[in-house]
Formats: sequence, structure tokens, C-alpha cells
Amino acid sequence: MKFFLYLILLNTFALSQGSESPKLEINRINNIQYFSAIDYAETSKIKTVFVKTKEKLIIQYGSKKIVLSPSSSFVLVNDILYNISVPVIYDGNDFWVPLNSFSRIIKTIDLPELKIDSSEKYALLSIIPKNILGCSFERKENGVLIKIKTQEDFEENKVSATVTRGGWLNINIAEGSIDSIALINNTKLIKPILKIRPIQLEKSAQLSFLFNDKIDDYDISVDNASIRIGIRSKSEISAQKIKKMKDRWNLDVIVIDAGHGGKDPGCLDNGLMEKDITLDVSKMLGNRIEREMGIKVIYTRTEDEFIPLWKRTKIANDSGGKLFISVHVNASPKSSSARGFETFIIRPGKFDDATEVAQRENKVIELEDSPKKYPKLSKENLIIATMAQASFTKQSEFLAGEIQSELSERFTAPNRGVKQAGFHVLVGASMPNVLVELGFITNKKDHRLLSQKKYRKKMADSIYEAILSYKSEYEQSL
Ligand SMILES: [Zn+2]
Repeated sequence: MKFFLYLILLNTFALSQGSESPKLEINRINNIQYFSAIDYAETSKIKTVFVKTKEKLIIQYGSKKIVLSPSSSFVLVNDILYNISVPVIYDGNDFWVPLNSFSRIIKTIDLPELKIDSSEKYALLSIIPKNILGCSFERKENGVLIKIKTQEDFEENKVSATVTRGGWLNINIAEGSIDSIALINNTKLIKPILKIRPIQLEKSAQLSFLFNDKIDDYDISVDNASIRIGIRSKSEISAQKIKKMKDRWNLDVIVIDAGHGGKDPGCLDNGLMEKDITLDVSKMLGNRIEREMGIKVIYTRTEDEFIPLWKRTKIANDSGGKLFISVHVNASPKSSSARGFETFIIRPGKFDDATEVAQRENKVIELEDSPKKYPKLSKENLIIATMAQASFTKQSEFLAGEIQSELSERFTAPNRGVKQAGFHVLVGASMPNVLVELGFITNKKDHRLLSQKKYRKKMADSIYEAILSYKSEYEQSL
């Protein structure tokens, strides 16, 4: 007895949960119950087409089609003629169909059924509540996210997916009920999804998506009244990578670092100071880059001021620089015959040569307020600190090589080549970077060149030309 009571309660509960069935008014014509076909279609969200020239109404539900003709006792259902015993009435506005015989037809072809209510004034429409409501897409970094909006959370094991030939991804939702037409009409496709095909199966709903790309991987998750399918495709991944690479290397910001400044004059000789030469060359170089290449230039300094080495690197990194060029002048107190230009790079893991120059250039940290900011540039430390540069060492090397050849085209001073050493100012730079030593202030010939405006201009021009070939080399390869 208890068992029955429980069942009854459960039943009542279930009924009260469902919203009230939509109803259609019944019209008695010649004592026969009729209802409006247009009302029926609208209430069931079924598409209708009125063919004015032929005065025919077509009710189209997926692949199912019913054609009504005025005053005819036959209706065409999926190209088969059905006799409905009394004719369809067209009042110039609406199509009226006999309730009894028409109900039988819609039942056989699985359209929403009609039942007469107790008052016999209305026909109740038994629309199965749809639990799959809609579908949307979101572009993600490496693919697409499909979001299927559902009435409630489906258990994850009720959702499965298969990939079939021709690029179809089929999502099967057990106990899913789908409004195919609304879904097709309300879904906005985005690339690489070309088509969506919702199918109501007997015990499940299937949503198929046609992809332009090969589907490499997908995962399904269920939460928040939605089914989410993340799809990754190889071309998406590589397209994304290329874009990232392009953004990363696209030469839109160049950082020019005029060595020394303020209380740090750099190397000196006979009243000529490194800090003045580097600032002058840097400004001429930056001007040309901005004017002729239209590339944004960030200077670590534009005045005679002291900027700690760590801050120079920070300025470069914070500005999103794609290239860092540090301009310096060499000195060799021991050997006045030493002359020429050289360009330094950081080559991760290799720091054997040219440490003397690096030591001299790094010495400036003693003038800084808190030299503790720097790790001791032991060989081991350098290897670790420069690992991050491995991804752009090639670019740095290329630019350094170009600078050296451009300088040697314009100057007779010896080309001392591309070298590597652990410069503090380069270590932390997260972009291709070089340090140019324009010449030796301690050498008579170099000293004379470095003190003259037109030679400084030629030096700036050499670096400028090197940047031009760097730009074309790296932007072409992207
Ligand atoms: Zn210097």
C-alpha cells in the first residue's frame, strides 16, 4: 500500500514539474472539430510556407513535409497522399484542418501530437520538452570550444563523441531532446566549423559538426547546464604558433641603449668621454629608425644621466622591445695600438673570450646604489642566466654580423669581429640583443674618428643598415 502511495505522489510531482501544455482552440465547422494549421505550426515552432500562387500551405519539419490545399480532402505527406475524409478549409487567412484525421497523420510522422482536453474546446499540444537548447562557439588559443546549452547538467557518461570521415565530429547525447530547426536557425557558425547537423534519434540526440580542419584532439566536459567540447586541430595550433612568433619578432619596437651617462663617463681620453659619443650615435641612429623605418624607438636615456644597468634592461623588457642595441666605446689603457670595432652577443653557455671588455663595462655597477641586484657572473651563473636567450641567439648573431660588415664597409679600422661575453646589460634582455664597441678611445686614429660628428653619423648609419637587413631577414622568414 505504501508503495502505491509513493508512486502516486511521484507521479503528481512529475506532472506538476512540467509546464502546462500549449493549447489550440477547436473550431466546430459543420459539427466537425477543426483547428488552425498555422496555429499548430507556430505553437510547435514548425516552419510553414504559404505558396500564394497555388494557395497551398507547406508545413516543413526537418525532412518532413505536409502540403495542405484548400477544399481538398487529401493532404500530401512526404509525397504520399492521405485521405482526411473532410476537406481542408482555407478562409483566406488560415488553413483549418479536421482534428481527428489530421491528428492521426501527425502521429504517424512523429510531429507534436494533439489531444482534446476535457472541455472539448481545446486541443492540447504534447510537445516533448527540449533539453538541448542551443549551441555556440568560442575561438580559443589552439582551437575551438563548442558550448551546447542544456536544460540541466547531463551526466558526463551520457555524452560521447566520434570523429567520422570527411571531418565530422558527432556528439551523441543520451536522453537528449533537440529542437533541430531552432538550433540550426539560431546557431552562428564560426571557422573552422562549416556545418551543424542536429538529429533527433529515438533515445538520444546527435549534434554533428563539420570541420574544415583535421580534428586532432577533443575533450568533453559537462557543467553549468552546458556540454563543452574543446577541439584542437593541428593547423590551429600551428597558425597560433606562427601568430605568436610574428607578434614576438615583428620588429615594432627597437631599444637603443646609449652606454654610461651622468656620474659614469665610461672610458675617457683627453677630454673625450664615452658617454657623449654613445648618446650622440644612439640619437642619430634612433632618429633614422623612426623617420625612415617608422619603427618605435625606446631610448634607455636621452640625456646625460646615470641609469643603472639593471634599469636599462628593464626599460627594454617593459617596452616590449624586439631588439636591444647597446652602444659603447672601447678602451685599452695597456695598448694604445688596439683599435677597431667589435660587436658582442651573449651566446648561452659560452663565455671564454673577451671577458676583459665585459669586466670593464660591468664595472659601472660599483657606482650604483645597490649593486647586490646582480648575480655574480660566474661561468655557471651566466650559463643559467642566459639560457632564456637561446631562443633568439641566432637573431642576435645575425645582427652582430651585419653590424660588423656594415662598419667594415665604411671604415678602414680593423673589424675585430663578433664576440661573446657576459655583459650585465645584455644578460636579462628578453629580446635579441647586441653590444657594439664602436672603436678605441685610447687609439689615436679611432679617437679622432670618434670625436668627429660626421664619423659618428657614419657609425649610426652602419648600424641602421644592419637593422634594415635584420628586419628583412627576420620578417621574411616569419
Ligand atoms: Zn661602455
